[in-house]
Order: sequence, then structure tokens, then C-alpha cells
Amino acid sequence: MNIILLGAPGAGKGTQASKISDAYKLPHISTGDIFRENIKNQTPIGVLAKSFIDKGQLVPDEVTCKIVEDRIEREDCKNGYMLDGFPRTIAQAEALDKIAKIDLVINIDVDHSLLLDRLCGRRVCKNCGESYHISRLGDKTDCARCGGELYQRKDDNPETVQSRLDVYNAQTSPLIDYYAKKGILFNVVGNTTPEDVFEEVSKKLDAMNK
Ligand code: AMP
Repeated sequence: MNIILLGAPGAGKGTQASKISDAYKLPHISTGDIFRENIKNQTPIGVLAKSFIDKGQLVPDEVTCKIVEDRIEREDCKNGYMLDGFPRTIAQAEALDKIAKIDLVINIDVDHSLLLDRLCGRRVCKNCGESYHISRLGDKTDCARCGGELYQRKDDNPETVQSRLDVYNAQTSPLIDYYAKKGILFNVVGNTTPEDVFEEVSKKLDAMNK
């Protein structure tokens, strides 16, 4: 099964992706993670991506689409995969249509008033990418999943977060309609806990797998 996780920054895509990936054994492909890895390794793609990511803007479609195309051709994607943070524009969705058949688009819908706090209070594992919110961390400084060190993403500051939300509203939210029209959209309310959201998502995936 090929799945897309859609939702505003801070909706909980990464958190759900990690749960779905563990439970359904699907490779988790996050374009944001791929860019951050490239930035860490100072590759040419990383240098280019950083100039956009630091401003809360999207990396150009041609670069992003090529990365995804190469990634989904790999052996581990033969039996399905889950895209997190891609597509983010109609042009990316159209490019994806040419190379893949998507079975389900899970749209995590969260009140926009919650997103700023979620993103600014987010801490991420340096090792496995798992996300946490400071309100649920207590005095823990390492990842419950793998023990890795937690850090705050450079683009999780109020100013950059606001640009990311503006970009989402202008360029990514039209994808909800795009996939609804194709009849493959599944909406889930994301204002609740990660566990509640995952329960809803699992019901849908289990029904589809029967
Ligand atoms: P994320 O980790 O999904 O929040 O992505 C972090 C940043 O990487 C975004 O704010 C964009 O600058 C960039 N990025 C990730 N995915 C895409 C995409 N599909 N298209 C363009 N830029 C992206």
C-alpha cells in the first residue's frame, strides 16, 4: 500500500508516520528528514535546501520530486511506502501521479490555533527523528524510542513557523481537494492525542488491508 500523510506543519505527520511505519512495516519517507540529512552532510542538495528551509519556504519542486522519485524506486519500497511531507504543491502531486499509484491520503486536520505552540515546543530526536512536545517530556532529555539526544529544529522558531504555516495555507492545503476529488482522502481529527489519532488511522488501514 502506498500512503501519503498530509497536514499542516505540526499536525503530527511525523509522529503518525513513525507509528504506522512500525505497525505496518512500511518505509517512512520524509522529504524534510532527507533534506536535514543532506544539510548535516553538507551535500550540494543540502546547501541548496538550507537556504529555503531556514526561511520557512519550500525547496523547489524539481529538486524535491527527483529525490522522491529516486527514493521510491529503491528495493524496500517494492511492497509499499509512506510519504510524509510530500507532495506539498499541486505540481509535486501531478509529478507523483506520473510515477506512482497512491492508495490512501491521510489528512491530519488540526485547529490552526494549536500549531504554533506545537511547533515551537517541539523537540526532535537527533538519531531517529521521533518528535516530542516539551509539555509531555518532563525532565527527560533523551528519546524514549532509541535513547538519542533531543534537540529543537532550527526552523521551529516563531518567525519561521509563521512562514511555514502561510506556505501551507497557500500551496499545500489545495491538495486536500485534489485528493478528495480522486476519492482517496481520509480525514482524521488531529487535535487529540497521538494515540487517539493512531487508533483512527489503524481502523482505516486494517479495513483496507482485509
Ligand atoms: P518537514 O520536516 O516536513 O517539516 O520539512 C521541513 C522543511 O523542508 C520544509 O519547511 C520545507 O522547507 C522543506 N520541505 C520538506 N518537504 C518538502 C517538499 N515536499 N517540497 C518542498 N520543500 C519541502
